[in-house]
Amino acid sequence: MFKYAVGLSLGELVLKGKNRGSFIDALIKQVVRSLHDIEYKKIYQDIGKVYIECEKENMDRIIKRVSHVFGIVYLSPCIKVGKDEDEIREAIKEITRETLEKNDFKTFKGETKRADKKFPMTSMEFSRVIGETVLKNFDINVDVHNPDFYVYVDIRQDAYVYTEKFRGHGGLPLGTNGTGLLLLSGGIDSPVAGYMMAKRGVKVDALHFHSFPFTSKRAEEKVIKLGEIVSSYSGPMKIYSVNILPIQKEINKHCHESQMTVLSRRFMMRIAESISAKNGYKSIITGENLGQVASQTIEGLACTDAITDRLVFRPLIGMDKVDIIEISKRIGTYETSILPFEDCCTVFLPKHPLLKPTIEIMEKSEEGLDIDKLVEEAIENMTIINIE
Ligand code: ATP
Ligand code: MG
Repeated sequence: MFKYAVGLSLGELVLKGKNRGSFIDALIKQVVRSLHDIEYKKIYQDIGKVYIECEKENMDRIIKRVSHVFGIVYLSPCIKVGKDEDEIREAIKEITRETLEKNDFKTFKGETKRADKKFPMTSMEFSRVIGETVLKNFDINVDVHNPDFYVYVDIRQDAYVYTEKFRGHGGLPLGTNGTGLLLLSGGIDSPVAGYMMAKRGVKVDALHFHSFPFTSKRAEEKVIKLGEIVSSYSGPMKIYSVNILPIQKEINKHCHESQMTVLSRRFMMRIAESISAKNGYKSIITGENLGQVASQTIEGLACTDAITDRLVFRPLIGMDKVDIIEISKRIGTYETSILPFEDCCTVFLPKHPLLKPTIEIMEKSEEGLDIDKLVEEAIENMTIINIE
């Protein structure tokens, strides 16, 4: 007899002023996409919030799926009723009964949000109605400071009654901030970097380097799996897969062993730049982190950065590894990232990598290499994997 809807609170989007409409449209588009195989009745706006009206039994699945859409701060499973006091009281009884069935709660607090300013009662007055309704029907007490649960009533064009609020990932809706090409390895860092930029609204595709046959097909499958997990947040993703072995062999032949890492990083960046130029990516994203390994000293980063004028985002640059790991666990990439497969960079890993390379020394080393040809051939031979 009740109608049900999942309510989406939009947080930061509220601040977007005149652009708000297009941000909400972008968000709704992603919600629709994420629900492509789940049934619902309609998606609509009701004074500042977005609602997905659906059958009660689909709410859990919908919340789980939609929680990956960026731009949402909270998701709540609501009973939807008209703005009639008796109807709302019935919904309050129903939701409280359900909540107490599932939890051993002893105290509650009523909270009203009155977005419809024409509603005849104030929030305070209506919260008293909530309190009275619950106290009359259930054997629990009010605790205004530290309640076991809240009974929320949102009064908008319709009224929404709920007791649960799940955290979303926040951020901005996908595609509201241009595009980026993510250098995706099989490690812990780069998937997190991709997630973080996608969370700021960047549409992310990925570029992976392997050294087949030194690196295995299973190592590549691991990277595709990581791409799939990131894409559950960031939408359909292309993975450009490039064999960097011929370049590594050339570097190995012509340059000092200690320069291997930084020189291959510079080639990765050249290839990323070339693919970005051809496909219109506005930024390049890496999982680099200051001081983590030899190639990520300030000097090392300066050598890679010098390759391109394009914006290079390094969202993890100042983070501690424990915090990066925490995010990777939360977004679900950690377990895949730690699978023990070889990475292309380990193939020619120098025993004593250069800690303070300079751009001049790197350029000098590269004089013996046919840079343009190596880059072109690598791109000619690349494969593209599409993740839907
Ligand atoms: P990650 O955990 O992301 O592999 P890392 O700590 O192992 O990072 P590095 O191996 O030095 O650090 O790599 C730094 C960054 O360079 C990575 O975050 C990634 O963006 C890029 N990168 C490294 N190896 C590859 C690769 N095989 N393919 C694509 N990008 C790579
Ligand atoms: Mg790595």
